[in-house]
Amino acid sequence: MTDNRTIKAPEGMLAVWRDMYEWARKNGGDMPCPRCGRRTMTDHNAISRRVSVEICPTCGAEEAFEDFATGGCMDDVSHWWLFSGAR
Ligand SMILES: [Zn+2]
Repeated sequence: MTDNRTIKAPEGMLAVWRDMYEWARKNGGDMPCPRCGRRTMTDHNAISRRVSVEICPTCGAEEAFEDFATGGCMDDVSHWWLFSGAR
């Protein structure tokens, strides 16, 4: 992406997350959705509109609705399970 709407997430944390996710997928593991924290990841996940990471289909739909409702102004990811620290 070339715009600056994707810079709010800590890239280092996302890189680690992607590695863990790939490893888990190859090894039959079960990773939670980084956005909602639920075990709702499927073989048909969505790519987040906020950061380049896979999220569950429900979250993908919610982001689409958020963008529709706000005109695409919802780029904050601090409420995501992965970034909230509430684990
Ligand atoms: Zn989710």
